[in-house]
Amino acid sequence: MADVKKVAFVTGGNRGIGLQTARELGQSGFEVVIGARDPSKGQAALEELRAAGVKAEVVLYDARRPETDASVKKHLEEKYGRLDVLVNNAGLIREELLARNASTVPEDILRETFETNLFAVVRLTQTLLPLLKKAPAGRIVNVSSILGSLGLHSAEGSPIAAAKAFAYNASKSALNAFTVHLADELKDTHVKVNSAHPGWVKTELGGPHAPMDVADSARTSVRLATLAADGPNGGFFHENDRLPW
Ligand code: NAP
Repeated sequence: MADVKKVAFVTGGNRGIGLQTARELGQSGFEVVIGARDPSKGQAALEELRAAGVKAEVVLYDARRPETDASVKKHLEEKYGRLDVLVNNAGLIREELLARNASTVPEDILRETFETNLFAVVRLTQTLLPLLKKAPAGRIVNVSSILGSLGLHSAEGSPIAAAKAFAYNASKSALNAFTVHLADELKDTHVKVNSAHPGWVKTELGGPHAPMDVADSARTSVRLATLAADGPNGGFFHENDRLPW
């Protein structure tokens, strides 16, 4: 087994916030493994990372294909023997305007959204947890969204009140629940788990009207991936601010 400094695995690492997170973790000294479901997109991202001086590789990871969890684990175990950071970044929003309301959202959209944004994250995290426990300071970052905040959705005059895409929002609320529950289970270990809201970012998912550029989008995930031993466990953050559940 090669002598490794620290290794991070970023799902959906081939574009958008995931690629930026991989780039910044790599530039801060991690060896980075990106998960991509499309090998050609993964290869293109890998070349971009390597051109930026990042020590990186790509593995096949598809949130809709559970067998890829086991192949990711096998690869990480054989090559590195442990995992220091898991960034559960891959996610989707699938709500056409007419299908976004809680009263009308079709069940297939609800299931597809939860499959990628919640069930796959739980499954992958459970699979990789033994490797995270082998690291001296394992860190799990669940890339959530402020739109998963029930506190803000239900508050009078909330700035996110109008953004009620039920399937996506509920999937991120449930992801936040996973963070809270898992963090409690892990509180006596060296592994920390937190939820991140990256900001509203100009990506395919965020759309062209988002105020934040991709270049600024990885700050929250990188901070939570590199927390010191006295850092928080089981929180929900945007940059340095704690968000309400
Ligand atoms: P994006 O540009 O649309 O990228 C999404 C990434 O997830 C892509 O790499 C995509 O791969 C991957 N992905 C989607 N489905 C997958 C699957 N089944 N298996 C494996 N990978 C899959 O989105 P983004 O804006 O960077 O979003 C990244 C995360 O940030 C998401 O969890 C999102 O909910 C969260 N977020 C984004 C914003 C925002 O404003 N952009 C705000 C809050 C939270 P392909 O290239 O193969 O499609």
